[in-house]
Amino acid sequence: MTELTAINPATGETLARYPRMDRDGLEAALARAASAAPDWAARPVAERAARLHDLAGVLRDARETLATTATREMGKRLVEARAEVDKCANACEYYAEHGPDLLQDTMIASDASRSFIAWQPLGTVLLVMPWNFPYWQAFRQAIPATLAGNTVLLKHASNVPGCAEHLERVFTAAGFPEGVFRNLPVGSDAVEGIISDRRVQGVSLTGSEGAGRAVGAAAGKALKSSVLELGGSDAFVVLADADLDHTVEQAVRGRFQNNGETCIAAKRFIVEEAIADAFVERFQAAIEALVIGDPMDEGTNIGPLARDDLRSELHDQVTRSVAAGARLVAGGEPLDGAGYFYPPTLLDAVEPGMAAFDEETFGPVAAVTRARDADHAIELANRSRFGLGGSVWTADPVRGEALARRLECGCAFVNGIVKSDPRLPFGGVKDSGYGRELSELGIREFQNAKTIWVG
Ligand code: NDP
Repeated sequence: MTELTAINPATGETLARYPRMDRDGLEAALARAASAAPDWAARPVAERAARLHDLAGVLRDARETLATTATREMGKRLVEARAEVDKCANACEYYAEHGPDLLQDTMIASDASRSFIAWQPLGTVLLVMPWNFPYWQAFRQAIPATLAGNTVLLKHASNVPGCAEHLERVFTAAGFPEGVFRNLPVGSDAVEGIISDRRVQGVSLTGSEGAGRAVGAAAGKALKSSVLELGGSDAFVVLADADLDHTVEQAVRGRFQNNGETCIAAKRFIVEEAIADAFVERFQAAIEALVIGDPMDEGTNIGPLARDDLRSELHDQVTRSVAAGARLVAGGEPLDGAGYFYPPTLLDAVEPGMAAFDEETFGPVAAVTRARDADHAIELANRSRFGLGGSVWTADPVRGEALARRLECGCAFVNGIVKSDPRLPFGGVKDSGYGRELSELGIREFQNAKTIWVG
């Protein structure tokens, strides 16, 4: 295919076709990114931070255009798309303010008269990004990477080509020099070649486990550094003493925001037996009240899934879970008509060995598993290949914290849904990948921690 096609998942209609970058275009982009890197790295940190500050303003000015494109290309609700643009702007400001401190040398006493870590950029980094937060996923890597003095090449998901173009446009509008941020409209077949190119020093991928294994293998083969954020099957552990009204309200948010297409969505609701019936009853009522419809409409709670193949895969997971003994409480059948709509779905009596427990369900499907007690709940939570996030809900935050420590994941929350925040590290363990995004650690992934020893 010589084109990337944007399809509106709410209607199934083709929005636009975008030419793919050919071999010569890719070669020119690689050369430009590499030649821009030394000059960008040599600029004062304050100047790079100033560009980020300007970028925040550009994003806010372009909010409506950016948000509308995201909604039209991947189906998220317009109100959530606007919030995503604001989140990107806020992160730009956070790093513009705090980044310069994080780039200071770290002094370390040793046998030298002076020894320290000089934090230096790697050079050019490739970002392979998904469609579910088409701006935020790219920004949370591109901001620390460029602030650190790297240049960035973006290979975005093929179904959000318009969002990818906007990304390059806003960096240019904020005064980033040519070559510092470049969109590569190429397919995933081009990724291994780009990683192995000597002008690229590192790669960060957010996406599926399969893509993660491919990119991790390519990076290993080429001896390049890599960060992999590969989704998860987060546990939402409800203890018997939890405030049910609040917990159910947050369960709905945690599972169904972004149409359920979130790596850190709560996916497995592990509930202490004593309150499980009450939890399921209230959860069902709240889920059945959600309004499915046009994502441009402010009254809509659930829009379409991003692609038809993703909807088919999700439905197959539901069907296999029910066949294996899960109880279908709500939803469970794709909606007829145009667009890739799937209703909010609730499964009860989900057990290890069922698809809804073992696999990542990327859409509006909540799976409830009953636990004998808190220890059993943690054991069930950890019985997953994934380890991205997890949460514990209880009236006793001290006990909640102790249980959060026992969750095998990268981000454990007590009485709050898992979310990313520029101030806090974000990433996973197990098959959810490795490396950290955001915070100080997010910058470090794109730096050479150079030891300097002076006798
Ligand atoms: P993918 O992992 O296929 O896509 C993510 C990015 O990786 C895209 O840019 C894609 O390019 C690229 N990619 C895919 N395969 C390769 C490869 N072999 N080598 C290099 N790059 C590759 O996700 P899907 O869109 O197919 O979604 C499938 C599932 O992935 C979801 O159901 C969900 O489980 C998970 N996912 C997790 C996300 C997260 O936030 N962690 C985000 C999105 C998906 P291209 O689009 O051109 O194929």
